[in-house]
Amino acid sequence: SPRVVIIGAGIVGANLADELTARGWDRVTVLDQGPLPLTGGSTSHAPGLVFQTNASKTMTEFARYTVEKFLALDVDGAWCFNQVGGLEVATTPERLTDLHRRQGWATAWGIEGRVVDPDECAALHPLLDRDRVLGGFHTPTDGLAKAFRAVVALARRAEARGARFQGSTRVTGIESSGGRVTGVRTDGGVVPADVVVSCAGFWGPAVGAMVGMAVPLLPLAHQFVWTGQVAELAGRNDELTEAGLPILRHQDRDLYYREKGDRLGIGSYAHRPMPVELGDLPEGDVTDAAMPSMLPFTEEDFAEPWEHSRQLLPSLRGTKVDSGFNGVFSFTPDGGPLIGESPDVAGFWIAEAVWVTHSAGVARSVAQLLVEGRSEIDLHGCDVARFEEVQLGAEYVRETAQQNFVEVYDVLHPLEPRRSPRDLRVSPFSARQRELGAVFLEVAGWERPHWYEANAGLLDELPAEWVPPERDDWAARHWSPIAAAEAWRTRTAVALYDMTPLKRLEVSGPGALDLLQRLTTGQMDKSVGSVTYTLALDEAAGVRSDLTVARLGEQLFQVGANGNLDLDHLRRQAPADGSVQIRDITGGTCCIGLWGPRARDLVQRVTSDDLSNAGLKYFRAKRVRIGGVPVTAMRLSYVGELGWELYTSAEHGLRLWDALWEAGQDLGVIAAGRAAFNSLRLEKGYRSWGHDMTTEHDPYEAGLGFAVRKQEGFVGSTVLAGRGEDTVRRRLCCLTVDDGRSVVLGHEPVYLDGRPAGYVTSAAFGHTVGRPIAYAWLPASAGVGTAVEIQYFDRRVRATVAAEPLVDPEMTRIRG
Ligand code: FAD
Repeated sequence: SPRVVIIGAGIVGANLADELTARGWDRVTVLDQGPLPLTGGSTSHAPGLVFQTNASKTMTEFARYTVEKFLALDVDGAWCFNQVGGLEVATTPERLTDLHRRQGWATAWGIEGRVVDPDECAALHPLLDRDRVLGGFHTPTDGLAKAFRAVVALARRAEARGARFQGSTRVTGIESSGGRVTGVRTDGGVVPADVVVSCAGFWGPAVGAMVGMAVPLLPLAHQFVWTGQVAELAGRNDELTEAGLPILRHQDRDLYYREKGDRLGIGSYAHRPMPVELGDLPEGDVTDAAMPSMLPFTEEDFAEPWEHSRQLLPSLRGTKVDSGFNGVFSFTPDGGPLIGESPDVAGFWIAEAVWVTHSAGVARSVAQLLVEGRSEIDLHGCDVARFEEVQLGAEYVRETAQQNFVEVYDVLHPLEPRRSPRDLRVSPFSARQRELGAVFLEVAGWERPHWYEANAGLLDELPAEWVPPERDDWAARHWSPIAAAEAWRTRTAVALYDMTPLKRLEVSGPGALDLLQRLTTGQMDKSVGSVTYTLALDEAAGVRSDLTVARLGEQLFQVGANGNLDLDHLRRQAPADGSVQIRDITGGTCCIGLWGPRARDLVQRVTSDDLSNAGLKYFRAKRVRIGGVPVTAMRLSYVGELGWELYTSAEHGLRLWDALWEAGQDLGVIAAGRAAFNSLRLEKGYRSWGHDMTTEHDPYEAGLGFAVRKQEGFVGSTVLAGRGEDTVRRRLCCLTVDDGRSVVLGHEPVYLDGRPAGYVTSAAFGHTVGRPIAYAWLPASAGVGTAVEIQYFDRRVRATVAAEPLVDPEMTRIRG
């Protein structure tokens, strides 16, 4: 097996050594700058609360594996996981409501948990002031990880399989040759390696810099205290068990609690964000009470949290804060961990910004990536390549990571807009969009209109059958009924959609065709001017992306992609001989989706090119002039209407917009936003990668078998042989909501015969069909007509599996 050096012997590094050696990679060396086993990193003082439930399925699965793994670990009979359960309490009505949503996530991802009343909260955690609590979310399988002890147990196990742990060895540089890692330089000499994985925690950016790799995390301090003896806890626990009460979260005040003997530990996010410079960390010997990851306690920041703690847990009035510190750990721009390989130095990997909670799960996935080439769990929200270049800047990381710290326990809507930084990336149409009162939400740094206030007047003209039902408070956030008017105009007249933020790549050169043939499921060897919807699979035939590939020349392809992960993947897969060039052309170009039954009437007024059905067939592309501007027109539509994606370079964008806008006035042209778009795409059954399907699903399960060519020779093809629509055990299904009005938003559990059987991926109100739509993963046995229930907060919403697509199954509209 290859020689592996792991930098960092914290909970992530130790787990990784264990997972690699369990897979037979026994030449593993773990280096740490600190002494062993107490290195002085975040793990050395981690209080170890493990709350598994998360909006993200991946994060929840990481946590579930950590629980399962640590339960089976011990050091000389002493526990590494104490399954005391978890209790999140609500002291405000808004929080209580949200606990039901959290309970829904738990159910969707297979974690048992219940929302309980104040009496049961008090019974579960007798220190609680019952009268302050409105209810709680109880998860019996949550608990306390003894992170530091788990490191010892994991290191012993890995060492027994051949791994070596070496402390007091600082890595000062990474050795490489010909773009491949060859070893690490340390203060004690060079250690040769074929693979290096940095598990350096909040030191990650410093280690990444050794290979020029941006590691977008910010070290932040976070307060933790131990109280003195709490009289009510005296005699409850012996030294070995330590704790019996559930771990507790008081999210309304940004606080959490754990028991230890007869004392309580309290963690607080209720203070100002405190970014930490690595150079300011304490130096000197590492002890329980002094280490680089522990900064002096700033008492004034804990005054209010202490008061709030004594209100929630009145027994604390009889004690005081015994000791406290400001502990250092990592925050990232989107809260996710950072996993991945350097784009420049092959064999250099990172696994950082990982909580104890997710540590075993992350390590298992990284070991799978290294040994088997693929993680069984979807990692798109963890891959460090998910960030756009502008998001890797120190300013961006600093601002967004601090915002995540502040919001860590906030009730966040799925569409919650980032407040800052904004206007990082704007399309050339931005000025016009603002004039039209665009309401922007941010994605990957882009400002993307969700609807236009200028269209509010259309609500008066809206035919009765298009008037959307009232929404509940939650579903009405970051939404407007104007979306209904925009959908109506798209289906009955014509609309402009700004598609600029969609990632666009140019793939060119003599090897371009072969590369795309190998990496995607579609037939790419078609005539110039053809456009193909295709899938990129991984080796196990999991869907790693869906792409729209236009052949613009013999050796020139334009690829519509999902994000930076596609760019990263293509670059890594491109042959080393320079026969393929891959360029991200997103920022230098722009795109208008011109869609609706009057789209052709409109465009013909501003072009002399032939855009008739004969002149440009469905799924064909050609270069034309519109309003004098050179445009690549592609005959496609995500909304299922006649029309084109019109691409031009950024400097021509405004001119193109104005030409279409002016020419379309008497045809009823409008600008339409993302809210209408999402509704229209779901009515047509168009999947959104990352939401509806990921690497965890194959094309047939996702309902994308049509995009798979029958020949062999593409990545994943051998695995797909013998599979088909009829062999799948689960399927992405289209549901419509029976009452015609209850809109759900995604990530809700779906019940079949009263039992949890799947979860919602994307959802929207279908304005054309006059009822809410939800796509959901369900067992394949749930055929068309099957009755199901969707859990929305504390309600069950009846829905039915529908035949898809709901609109225009004969494709007469789109083929115009
Ligand atoms: P670390 O434990 O920091 O390990 C990284 C190691 O890399 C260190 O030992 C360091 O010495 C070594 N290293 C760095 N640079 C070099 C170099 N150049 N050469 C050699 N070695 C190097 N998480 C939870 O899940 N639940 C909680 O309740 C919880 N509470 C927390 C409370 C506080 C106060 C804090 C600060 C954090 C808490 N966390 C919690 C977070 C958790 O502690 C960390 O996310 C986790 O321990 C990180 O583990 P790690 O292995 O990545 O990093």
